[in-house]
Amino acid sequence: MTAPEPASTAAGKPAAKPVVLTCAQPTGKLHLGNYLGAVINWGRMQDDYECHFGIVDWHAITMPYKPADLRANTYNCLAQYMACGLDPAKSHLFVQSHVIGHTELSWILGCICPMGWLERMTQFKDKSKKLESVGSGLFTYPVLMAADILLYNASVVPVGEDQKQHLELARDLAEKFNRTYSDTFVLPQPFIGKSGARIMSLQDPTSKMSKSDPNPAGVVYITDTPDIIRKKFRSAVTDSGSEVRAGDDKPGITNLLSILSGVTGRPVAALEADFDGANYGKFKDAVADAVIATLDPVRLRYESLVNDKAALEAVMKAGAEGAQRNANRTMSKVYRKTGFVERPR
Ligand code: AMP
Repeated sequence: MTAPEPASTAAGKPAAKPVVLTCAQPTGKLHLGNYLGAVINWGRMQDDYECHFGIVDWHAITMPYKPADLRANTYNCLAQYMACGLDPAKSHLFVQSHVIGHTELSWILGCICPMGWLERMTQFKDKSKKLESVGSGLFTYPVLMAADILLYNASVVPVGEDQKQHLELARDLAEKFNRTYSDTFVLPQPFIGKSGARIMSLQDPTSKMSKSDPNPAGVVYITDTPDIIRKKFRSAVTDSGSEVRAGDDKPGITNLLSILSGVTGRPVAALEADFDGANYGKFKDAVADAVIATLDPVRLRYESLVNDKAALEAVMKAGAEGAQRNANRTMSKVYRKTGFVERPR
């Protein structure tokens, strides 16, 4: 599904931009899969949509974590997103716990969410299997995600395949709330970017590039230096044969072609023609060069941002203020419709 066109009025005056929400947990370094599969598309939406980019720290505590890491990662995450092109002058870049409303709306939605809807969530089943003691926050986390989306009345939510079930829950909860308390929420639609390529591990091209890859050489981070990036591509697993072409029988070369296509914007077929007759070594070096050309400016921007805590805090403050204005509009409606007495000011 593609996102709805940004609206314009008959007089040619731009109407309010459609609202987009996208959230990421502050869990460490972004890798090339996050960049090509998600963040690059978010950056492209900023001119046409009113984007809300939330660093969802409430979500990050649903699994065991270290407080010092959470704090450091919240700063790092903001610096990485800004380095990737998310622009606080165009979009609301905020930390979830800085905006009042996420947990409040989550409680209200939780009270109309049947247990059975949550018991069906496959991500809960997968994550809870790995834990000795499962917190109830992990179980109700999809309700908090629904609250994140509905708090801003987002009509468009860029999601990966793994989050589609949670977005459906958000739609179901919005519908149920609207039925119970009268029309309040827009039903959010998934937006799966056109070039949201699935990037695979360089060491095992049959599994997704992921920070939990047991082999660190399989993952390229946006903060890797050119030398490290070149080394990782040189040691990338390739396939039998010597032809540079995509195909089910060539998962390694197919992955490298989709990475090259992602960073250059050229279609895979054109790249196959470019490398007709080239050997794997030459091809891998060319992919490394193209990835370095894309990621090195990102790394340099990140390095200049990450140590300036005061500047990052100023971005967080402005982002939270903008998001809070939008959240307040929704919450005053929600509280009125659900029968709460307005909070004394
Ligand atoms: P995660 O790091 O799993 O929380 O993912 C954050 C975003 O990056 C989500 O939109 C994912 O769908 C996307 N993403 C994560 N890993 C990859 C990958 N290997 N290829 C493409 N997209 C990815």
